[in-house]
Amino acid sequence: MRHVAIIGSGPAGYYTAEALQKSFGEEVRIDMVDRLPVPYGLIRSGVAPDHQSIKAVSRRYEKVHLSPHVRFVGNVLVGRDVSIAELQGLYDAVVLATGAPQDRPLDIPGSDLPGVFGSAAFVGWYNGHPDFADLGPPLDVEAAAIIGNGNVALDVARILSKTSEEFGGSDIVGHAFEALAASAIRTIHILGRRGPHQIAMTPKELGELGHLAEAAPHVDAADLPPESEDAALDPGLRKSVAHLRGFAAAPTDKPKKIAFDFYASPVAIEGDNRAERLIVERTRLDKDLRAVGTGETYTIPCGLIVSCIGYRTPPVEGVPYDESGGRFANRDGVIGDGLYCVGWARRGPSGTIGTNRPDGFEVADKIAAALGQDSSAKAGATGLDALLQSRGVDAVAFCDWQRIEAAEAARARQGSPREKFIRLDEMLGVCRA
Ligand code: NAP
Repeated sequence: MRHVAIIGSGPAGYYTAEALQKSFGEEVRIDMVDRLPVPYGLIRSGVAPDHQSIKAVSRRYEKVHLSPHVRFVGNVLVGRDVSIAELQGLYDAVVLATGAPQDRPLDIPGSDLPGVFGSAAFVGWYNGHPDFADLGPPLDVEAAAIIGNGNVALDVARILSKTSEEFGGSDIVGHAFEALAASAIRTIHILGRRGPHQIAMTPKELGELGHLAEAAPHVDAADLPPESEDAALDPGLRKSVAHLRGFAAAPTDKPKKIAFDFYASPVAIEGDNRAERLIVERTRLDKDLRAVGTGETYTIPCGLIVSCIGYRTPPVEGVPYDESGGRFANRDGVIGDGLYCVGWARRGPSGTIGTNRPDGFEVADKIAAALGQDSSAKAGATGLDALLQSRGVDAVAFCDWQRIEAAEAARARQGSPREKFIRLDEMLGVCRA
């Protein structure tokens, strides 16, 4: 028997559990530890609420728990309730699958003003993450600016643009659904510090902006490179750029405007005790395709600013950390003896949900090679339970989560799959009822 603890129950954690089950069969016991009483990490709190087909992958993760050898141990924060060193004493291998839930800071003057948010916070707010339930972003303003040219910027722009009807079938939480229905925002700027050929937006997600009921994308044709240059792009990017060309040529007669500002780098946020305007420097590309400031600036009046410029993994005491990469210091998933990392905690925040699968399998192979055939002398689950009990930690099991899940489905808005609980005490109340 081998005992493995996986910290984090998002996609990377589940693919690792799946791979370990394949490697060891009956000979492994896995504890998936999560700081929240609810599993699925990014699937629940990051993937956009109107992208239910992507969220459906959680049904696959659920199957991992059909095995009696895999437990969910929720409401346990590693670093507070139990340390990494203690886990290493209890398990043959510890895998950090903690994702990258913190915003990379937008390091410009004024970024601490009210009305400025990172995407982890803003996305967490509309997805019902307990940490951001009280964010209260100002939607009583005429214009918003979104910084970044990746898929998260697209998610945020789309969510700010949709009508209530367009949220039909989504699981956007009630507080965000109501606030967005009353939103005064009519103009949304999406700022890219580089050009249309350097976007990190995928075609399907970008194409969605062309089908919104009340909002139209605005692209200035003058920003687009000559069409002949598209041939050199990789096929995915070429399709995305084709969407931008389509937007530049399409009618823009809808009440809300999603304006693409290319070659636009934010340099400061100004306002009287709250964000009121974003100062932007125009850029050009150098020979290495990096953005270089031109010295010319312009102002975007806006009361809401969401920076979608990437994420970081929170450090954990006792685990080597790579400051510049914002992730654990590791070599192909190995941090040290018996300590591993997978997914965004290993690679940084890139790729799709499925990109985490090979990561999980690679690390499971490494664990199998390191543990060999010897049976474990570690205490595993029994030891963890005793430790948590001695500290009065109210750990949550998978069947508790299933109670939360049923209660969320029972109180859903008509047409919505669930109305999430947004507070830990509500979640724990359902578990213990
Ligand atoms: P991303 O794809 O890495 O994009 C980050 C963007 O921020 C880039 O355009 C980058 O520009 C820009 N940026 C970085 N630092 C900046 C700064 N200081 N000032 C201005 N701009 C800055 O990150 P993401 O959008 O957060 O997405 C993370 C991952 O999740 C990606 O792999 C994404 O595809 C995935 N995702 C997928 C979906 C989906 O499939 N539906 C939805 C959401 C997210 P430069 O290129 O110039 O650095």
